[in-house]
Amino acid sequence: MKIVFFDRDGVINQFPGHGNYVTKVKEFKFLPGAIASIVQLTRHGYSIFIVSNQAGIGKGIYSRDKLRRINNYMLRHIRQAGGRINRAFYCTHRSDADCDCRKPRIGSVKRAMQLMKKPLAKARYAYFVGDDRTDIEAGHNAKCKTIFVLSGKNTTADVVKSWRVKPDLIAKTIVEATHIIINENTHSPRQRRRRS
Ligand SMILES: [Mg+2]
Ligand SMILES: [Zn+2]
Repeated sequence: MKIVFFDRDGVINQFPGHGNYVTKVKEFKFLPGAIASIVQLTRHGYSIFIVSNQAGIGKGIYSRDKLRRINNYMLRHIRQAGGRINRAFYCTHRSDADCDCRKPRIGSVKRAMQLMKKPLAKARYAYFVGDDRTDIEAGHNAKCKTIFVLSGKNTTADVVKSWRVKPDLIAKTIVEATHIIINENTHSPRQRRRRS
């Protein structure tokens, strides 16, 4: 079971400083190594999903069309490098909309597992990588292994001290998170046993 869920802003692209939202393609800047990491995971056979809260749409700060353009831009660059995102899920609802897809809720993880024709319980073998508390809580709620990255909203690990749900692992960036994921699954005790 090789599945990774990535948050988008602050993990794949620079955390948007002003206003907390990427509102146009020009504001979308890939973080160093992000594309290469996704390519690497793709080559190792991982199914990769993006799960992103974009309440700026529900609030009317930018349009659905702008989000579509930003998403197409991101996917095109990843694809051209040899990476594959199975599906990008965006929650465009405001926090008061009570939808099931706004992280820390797991509606998008459920739909990803449905797409893969896997029961939700198998999400326990997946990783959830994010730069914010809601990512770690969403991953936790879906029983994924969570990796907190310090490349976005939070730049020090100290913040987790005040979090009720702690990440399973902490990595500086998506590059380090990718190394962890690939190494864990290549050298797991179960596989080592099988080989001997
Ligand atoms: Mg984020
Ligand atoms: Zn939603």
